[in-house]
Amino acid sequence: MSTTIDPAVLQQLVAQAVQQLKNQGAAAPCAAVAPAVPDEYGVFSTMKDAIDASAKAQHTLLFQNPTQRKQWVDVIRQTCLKKENMEMMSRLAVEETEIGRYEDKIIKNTAAAQGTPGIEDLVTDARTGEHGLVLFEYCPFGVIGAITPTTNPTETIINNSICMISGGNTVVFSPHPRAKKTSVFLVQLLNKALYEAGAPLNMITMVREPSIEATNEMIDSPKVRMVVATGGPGIVKKVLSSGKKAIGAGPGNPPVVVDETANIEQAAKDIVAGSSFDNNVPCIAEKEVFAVDSIFDYLLINMKGAGAYEIKDKETIEKLWKLVANEKGDGPKVGFVGKSAQYILHQIGIEVDDSKRLIIMETDKDHPFVQTEMLMPILPVVRCDNVDQAIEWAYEAEHGNRHSAMMHSTNVAKLSKMAKLMETTIFVKNGPSFAGLGIGGQGYPTFTIAGPTGEGLTSPKSFCRRRECVMKDMFNIR
Ligand code: NAD
Repeated sequence: MSTTIDPAVLQQLVAQAVQQLKNQGAAAPCAAVAPAVPDEYGVFSTMKDAIDASAKAQHTLLFQNPTQRKQWVDVIRQTCLKKENMEMMSRLAVEETEIGRYEDKIIKNTAAAQGTPGIEDLVTDARTGEHGLVLFEYCPFGVIGAITPTTNPTETIINNSICMISGGNTVVFSPHPRAKKTSVFLVQLLNKALYEAGAPLNMITMVREPSIEATNEMIDSPKVRMVVATGGPGIVKKVLSSGKKAIGAGPGNPPVVVDETANIEQAAKDIVAGSSFDNNVPCIAEKEVFAVDSIFDYLLINMKGAGAYEIKDKETIEKLWKLVANEKGDGPKVGFVGKSAQYILHQIGIEVDDSKRLIIMETDKDHPFVQTEMLMPILPVVRCDNVDQAIEWAYEAEHGNRHSAMMHSTNVAKLSKMAKLMETTIFVKNGPSFAGLGIGGQGYPTFTIAGPTGEGLTSPKSFCRRRECVMKDMFNIR
């Protein structure tokens, strides 16, 4: 029996194969033959297959030069920035997780695609002397297993993929099961674009049905050389006990201090903008405010002018806590994470329009709204006698996460005091929290902020091994 192949398909396959061989370069000792058109575009039914495919891709990538890696990273950026793709991934994320705001997801995904550092982050250090030359270079780890949160499902995939592939790694994602459709969409979208550009197949993979078992298999696989967790304390602890190189980007509870020297009108605008951004789910978002007594009332008036809704009576505040806190009272009820202020207020019989982006209230410093990371647009404000007390209470409320903190002040001595004491990865002075992610501020975006393990705002070099290469007695030309 004979089969006929459509000449157009044949031509496409030959072109892909030629491109693939070019990309693999002559030096690759085990260069794979160009594969047939992939059905799954990086999405596999078993974790084992996702890891094996990733390992194969990494072997190919290892023998490609940084310019080629940059080319693949540019494909990722451009694919995400295409209007229809950007809108689709942002919409899917909100619809599937029921977390956050579409227009803010667009801002975050755009920042991740545009601003995540690439290969320029990997600067070689070369030294020469009478004994020759030594190079210190940032080299790949290999296959990286990356666990992503519900709160930033697409942002983290974009950001991690750019950083990890820039570093010569490939990545197997283990997304939150509640973000699986969105993650499948994005992983397939990126693989398809990369494949069409001639990149190695399967540099970004995942399992079709993410689960805790699949994540455990990924963490335990000997082929996975590094594990990265972006999420709550449970998963961070888990990767840190994996016995392999791990990066943990865990929770925060970022406080804001406002003192009497601040520009109060601007501080109020910044706090409302930062705290209500994507309905407060960013781990860096303002979660509680400590304001000195002399400007406290004026700050609240201005916050209301900037879109906040104030709840005044204690009974309603307690009713709200019971509504949104979990049974143990140590965190949010999942169904309220990332919901809008309008939605939350409606549940307690208060009707507002969507221009009200944030719920504020005066509480004492020990109130659970102050002490708990709630990930929703509810912001307690605590009255303090003076700036030193505000800084001390902010320090306590951050619980040693050393994640993020903000201060509004023009008193340089107090700004320095708080910055030093907090030891947070991100400290924003006189701006909204997202300025710390390069959104309207200097710096660059990352969606894996590694406080516990110290990499800070992760970038390609965070996912690299620093290796040395020596040439004895030669190449000192001074
Ligand atoms: P989460 O901890 O519930 O889930 C995060 C990821 O870990 C998911 O993929 C989940 O499936 C997985 N996971 C959780 N427990 C697990 C276990 N025992 N075994 C295997 N996998 C497990 O967090 P979330 O609600 O998706 O995200 C919000 C949290 O993440 C907040 O605490 C937030 O501050 C934090 N976060 C931190 C950063 C950062 O850069 N530091 C960024 C985003 C979110």
